[in-house]
This record gives sequence, structure tokens and C-alpha cells, in this order.
Amino acid sequence: MSVWDDLVGQEAAVAVLRGAVADPSAMTHAWLLTGPPGSGRSNAARAFAAALLCPRGGCGECHECTTALAGTHADVEVVATEASILRRQDVEPLVQLAQRSPSGGRWRVIVIEDADRLNETSGNVLLKAIEEPPPRTVWVLCAPSPQDVLVTIRSRSRSVVLRVPPVDAVARLLVERDGVEPALADAVAHASQSHIGLARRLARDPDARARRREVLDLARRIRGVPDAVLAAGELVEVAQAESKAATEERDADEKSRLYRALGAEEGKPLPPALRSQLKALEDEQKRRATRAQRDVLDRAMTDLLSLYRDVLLVQLGAAGADGGIDLVNVELADSVATLAADSTPEQTLRRMDAIGTARERLAANVAPLLAVEAMAVALRPQG
Ligand SMILES: [Zn+2]
Repeated sequence: MSVWDDLVGQEAAVAVLRGAVADPSAMTHAWLLTGPPGSGRSNAARAFAAALLCPRGGCGECHECTTALAGTHADVEVVATEASILRRQDVEPLVQLAQRSPSGGRWRVIVIEDADRLNETSGNVLLKAIEEPPPRTVWVLCAPSPQDVLVTIRSRSRSVVLRVPPVDAVARLLVERDGVEPALADAVAHASQSHIGLARRLARDPDARARRREVLDLARRIRGVPDAVLAAGELVEVAQAESKAATEERDADEKSRLYRALGAEEGKPLPPALRSQLKALEDEQKRRATRAQRDVLDRAMTDLLSLYRDVLLVQLGAAGADGGIDLVNVELADSVATLAADSTPEQTLRRMDAIGTARERLAANVAPLLAVEAMAVALRPQG
């Protein structure tokens, strides 16, 4: 067993990180771990931290390893944010922390999971810290791609790139580590397109699988414009409910913490001088809710896109076992075959374009219902 076990399909990246652990003289003080969502960036960062602190280079069993992986080691700071931007006040405490020697371990490791969310100001604060690193501090920055990170920071960090892991490696991980039944593991590894976190959620949570099925069922259900409008409304509502469930409890928590911090009583009006603080928190929570809703919708659209990609493969005769390409939606092979028989490859491509356009419009802050409706209408059968 070792801390690297869970990093499926990342042999090249692991070799680089292991090398740095084995030879501290070749150590770099700032690392940039990049890879597509689900490739395991934050897992890789934690494994690296554990390996740096472990007396045996990452055995996966000792106290250093287990606490570093769990994010509770005193010398490992993991910063994850749901906010859309990492601000100066988020980064400054980290810079101060970086100046302190590790409490017991050999290194102090600071992991920033969303380095792509640094803005110009907070990025510059971080840059100064990276340029003059204390001898035993290691920064590990994570982002989807090097281009997502400020160029000044990128140029001073050592880059390690994670790839999309192979589908069968993800399925094997689910079977071996999570005890998922092999057929289900295979189906969700395909369905998630090798996104490990998503595959695990689909494997564990029957509701998540049911929601995904419902989204994909839209392709079959939409027969005309009225169905399309109805389906779009439903989809947006479900996304709202899902994101609300995910954020509600924490929003309330944060609010009562702020009230306590301000020495005010919840439910009573705040003195005018303190209202701007509450307003700032509420604005941030609103931004976060909007973002969560867009993420849920984007996931739904990615799922729909995968279905039409399957349809296109069948229409082009490129799908199948004999050297063909695997379907993403293995368990929906029948629907895929029906959709493929009822339309032409050109129509499928137009539908995929419509989904792509809707995703772009959502990313550009178009009202979700508007973007999703236009997409749904484009999905209806056309003679
Ligand atoms: Zn260990």
C-alpha cells in the first residue's frame, strides 16, 4: 500500500512527484498540478504532501500519511473554495503561514485547490511568497490547465500534468476500493467519462443515477415545442433544488457565525454600521448559489451531449465491440439505437451544436431558462 495507490492512470505524474520526494536536493518550492475535472488533482496534491512528510516516502499507513491525506496534519494546509474568486484576504494568511517553519514534519505544505480562481491582486500577493520561499515550505497549486493560472505564477512553478484516466482503470478502482459491483462500476465509469468523483457518486447514490437517467430521457420525451418548453422548465427547477439543498445549510451557518462575530443577535435588525458586512456575505452566497445551479445544469448538458455522441457513433457505424469505440451510456444502448435510426448524422450534429451553444450561453450568464429552452426546442424530432 502507498499514498499513490488511488491515482489511477497517472503513472507519469506520480513518477515526477515521487522523484522529488526521493531527492530533496531537487525539490521545487512551487508546483502546479493540472488536469481535467475528475482526474484527481486534489488527491494527487494530498498524496504528495503525505509522501513529503512520511519517513518512508508515502507508506500510506503511518500517522503522517493518514493525517496528511485526511487534511488534518498540522503542517499541511489545504485551501478549497466554493467562492468564485480567491481574494487577497484569503491568500494573505497563507503567505504568513508559509513563513513559519513546520511544527514537526520536514516540510510545510500549502495546497491551493483552485489556483485558477486567484485574481490579479491575490495572485500578486501569492507571487511574492513563491518568489522568496522559506527553505522548508512547499506550495502545491491545482488548476484545470496551466492556461487557467496567472502567467507570472505559472512561470515560477514546476508543472505536473494529470491525464484523463482510462475507463477500465476507474472501474477497477471502484471495485477494489469501494466494493462496487463490477457491472455497476463499469457502467458508472463510462457514464462519468472517467471523472472519478462523479463515478463514485453515481455508484453510491441511486438518486444521482435516477436524476441522470431523467436528464437523458429528455432526448426521447421531447416530441414537439410544448414538450421542449416543459422539459426545459423542469430541468432548471431540478438544478435549482439540487443546488439549494447543497448550499442552504452552510449559508445559514455562515450567517449565524457572522452575527456572533459582530456581537449581534440573529433575527434582530443589525445596526446600520454593520449592515454592509451582512450584505457582502449575502452577495457572496447568492453568487455561490448561482454558480452551483449553473454547475448542475452544465453537468446535465454534458450528459445529454454524451448521449448524442453515442447516437452519432452508432449512425457512423463506429460504435461496438469489434475495435469500435465504447458507448458512454452503455445501459441506454436501446434508446441510443432508436434515436440513431430516427435521425440522420447531420441532425445529431446540429443537436450537439445546440447543446454546446446552451453551455456557452450559460457560462456567459444568460438566464438559465432561456438558454435551456432554446436547446430543448432544438432537440425535438425534425422530419
Ligand atoms: Zn507514511
